[in-house]
Amino acid sequence: MDVSKRFLVKPGSKIKLGEWDPGETLGMDRAEAERRLDENAEAIGRLQYRLYAEHTRSLLIILQGMDAAGKDSTVRHVLRYVNPQGVLVTSFKKPTDNELAHDFLWRIHRQTPRKGHIRVFNRSQYEDVLVVRVESLVPEDVWSKRYDLINAFEKNLVEGGTTIIKIYLNISEQRQREKLMRRLTDPDRAWKFEAADFETRKKWPAYMKAYDDVLEKCSTEHAAWHIVPTDKKWFRLFVISQIVRGTLERLNPRLPPLKIEPEAAMRLLDGID
Ligand code: AMP
Ligand code: MG
Repeated sequence: MDVSKRFLVKPGSKIKLGEWDPGETLGMDRAEAERRLDENAEAIGRLQYRLYAEHTRSLLIILQGMDAAGKDSTVRHVLRYVNPQGVLVTSFKKPTDNELAHDFLWRIHRQTPRKGHIRVFNRSQYEDVLVVRVESLVPEDVWSKRYDLINAFEKNLVEGGTTIIKIYLNISEQRQREKLMRRLTDPDRAWKFEAADFETRKKWPAYMKAYDDVLEKCSTEHAAWHIVPTDKKWFRLFVISQIVRGTLERLNPRLPPLKIEPEAAMRLLDGID
C-alpha cells in the first residue's frame, strides 16, 4: 500500500479533522517502521546529493501542526543523512515590526529554496490564516482572501521549478497534553516550555476549524496537503519519510555530465597548450 496516497488530501474534498485518526498506524509494527524510516532517510540523502548537483529544481517541505506535534523532531529524523550544505530550515515566529510593515507573503518569499536546495518551513504562510484568524489579529475580510493568495503564490513557486510537500501533523488533544506535560517534568525539555502554548490549547476547537479550512481550500493539484497521524512518533516519521522519498524519486534528479572533453581537461590540468 502507498502510504503517501493514503494520507493525501484530494483537491476538492471536504475535510473534517475529527474524521482523521491521529493514532492510526495501519497495523504496522514499530520495529519495521523504524527500519524503513532509516532506509528512506538514506535514500533521501542520496537523492538530495543528485538534486544539489543537478542545480535546476528545488524542494519545499511545509510542516504545520499544533504545539508539540513534532515538527522539530520530524526535521531531525527525516533529514538525518542529508548534507547540511543543501538543506535550510526556516522556523517562522511571530512577525517582527519590519515583517508586519509588508504584505504577509513578503517574509515567506524571501525564504523559498534556491535551485538545488531543500528548504523546510517549520510553520509557514499558513499561520496567517491559523493563529491570525483564531486570535483575530486582522479582520475577517483580510484573512479570508488569503487562501486564494496562498494558492496563487504556491503556483508561482511550482511554475518556477519548486516542488511543494505540505504536511499537517495531526496530533490528538490528549497526546498534546502528555507532550506538554513532559516539558514540565523532564529537565531536558524544560527549555521548550511556553506559557502561551497552554493558552493556545484552550482554543483547540477554533484551531481545528481553521485547519479544516486550510486543508480544504489549499489542497491543490500543484501543492496538495497530507494529513499525517502523529500520536505515534515512529509512524509519523515513517510516513513523512515515505512521502519525501517518493517525491524526490519522482523528480529523479540527474547528475550533470562532464562539461568538457576529458582530453582537453587533461591538457589544462597538466598545463600543456
Ligand atoms: P514555535 O514554533 O514554538 O517557536 O512558536 C512560534 C510562534 O509564533 C507560534 O505561537 C506561532 O503561532 C507564532 N507565529 C508564527 N507565525 C505567525 C504569524 N504570522 N502571526 C502571528 N503569530 C505567528
Ligand atoms: Mg513552541
